[in-house]
Amino acid sequence: MSQESRNEATTPSVGMVSLGCPKALVDSEDILTRLRSEGYRIAPGYEDADLVVVNTCGFIDEAKAESLETIGEALSSNGKVLVTGCMGASPEDIRSIHPRVLDVTGPHQAEAVLRSINSHLPRPHDPLVDLVPPGGLKLTPQHYAYLKISEGCNHKCSFCIIPSMRGRLVSRPLGLVMKEAEALVERGVKELLVISQDTGAYGVDLRYQTDYWREREWETRLHDLAQALGELDAWVRLHYVYPYPHIDRLIPLMAEGLILPYLDIPFQHASTRILKAMRRPAAAENTLERIAQWRRNCPELVIRSTFIVGFPGETDEDFEQLLEWLAEAKLDRVGCFRYSPVEGAAANELPGAVPEELKEERWHRFMQQQAEISAERLSARVGGEETVIIDQVHDDHAIGRSYGDAPEIDGEVIVMEPAQVSPGDMIRVRIEHSDDYDLHARRLPG
Ligand code: SF4
Repeated sequence: MSQESRNEATTPSVGMVSLGCPKALVDSEDILTRLRSEGYRIAPGYEDADLVVVNTCGFIDEAKAESLETIGEALSSNGKVLVTGCMGASPEDIRSIHPRVLDVTGPHQAEAVLRSINSHLPRPHDPLVDLVPPGGLKLTPQHYAYLKISEGCNHKCSFCIIPSMRGRLVSRPLGLVMKEAEALVERGVKELLVISQDTGAYGVDLRYQTDYWREREWETRLHDLAQALGELDAWVRLHYVYPYPHIDRLIPLMAEGLILPYLDIPFQHASTRILKAMRRPAAAENTLERIAQWRRNCPELVIRSTFIVGFPGETDEDFEQLLEWLAEAKLDRVGCFRYSPVEGAAANELPGAVPEELKEERWHRFMQQQAEISAERLSARVGGEETVIIDQVHDDHAIGRSYGDAPEIDGEVIVMEPAQVSPGDMIRVRIEHSDDYDLHARRLPG
């Protein structure tokens, strides 16, 4: 096969059916021109296309019927169909008959059509034209990368101003996230860190719409995304997951080894009164029982969390409740912040400000108790064999991380005399001893 035909075979292609008047035709030409300038191939028929755009006409009933019939044809011949044009002004008329269409936009919306095509069939990468490598520019080391799955948040935690800055939740379609993840792994990334403001809510705004990746149907929801990511040859680590009931379904994926048995859940407090004042999502869930169940189903699960002490109105009793909860939850990794007001946050108006010295005292008590728990959890891993990803190499030791350590925020595994390792290598080690936050290990032969 020549280079040219190879390129043609791998270039994403779009088919276009244009119905209706010359104005619609001009819209179609505009869309096609933009598609070509972005590097897409224009396919002559349904079968040759990766995706089909139907530009509809809704002028009279006959034209509407023809448009609906054409959408049906495109769906049965191709399956991936975007609808635009005059009929798109009433999307419900289309969706009620053809619920499988990927997206519907109205007339003269070439910009929106392109955005939709980009998200369902990512634009091709042209190394001669694009200055950005596939997967985008990254500031992280080559072997790990953050994978952002949504932007914004639908909650109103009283200490947070993110929703007012970034708006409501907007999830990225699963196919698009997977394309980015795949490109990162192809480029040598070995660990994907899934992030967002509210990872568990992924897909809610899209009503869990069906999307496609590797020619399979997936729902745009966290469980499906985790399963799809688990097919890639990389560690997958989930951050900012609130304990919604559906999170339980992720645990079997961790137990099977599809994604890392690691959950970053920002609990923030344990007192129901304070959680209510904080307006935390999923605050009513019985978290201790859930944690115990997760560990029964996946004993190696590592849980990291963050907490705030000294929130307005936090009494001695609330704080003692938090310590009791912590003693029972025995979380592996914990960060703790002393509450401080953020300009524009609702919590600033709450009564019962906690004096700074008291915040400080509570923070120390909290950290001391957690250090003991963390040390106990780590010591249980001494003697075991684990895989470690190497971040830094020094003369006589290397610094790596186990499945239980996210970069920057958790502990490290210090590997003595590792011999010929480079950053990004994944090596097997035996854990020899532990301290409050780190593990110390030696490389296993092989
Ligand atoms: S802290 Fe609350 S409001 Fe802020 S981003 Fe997280 S869930 Fe949303």
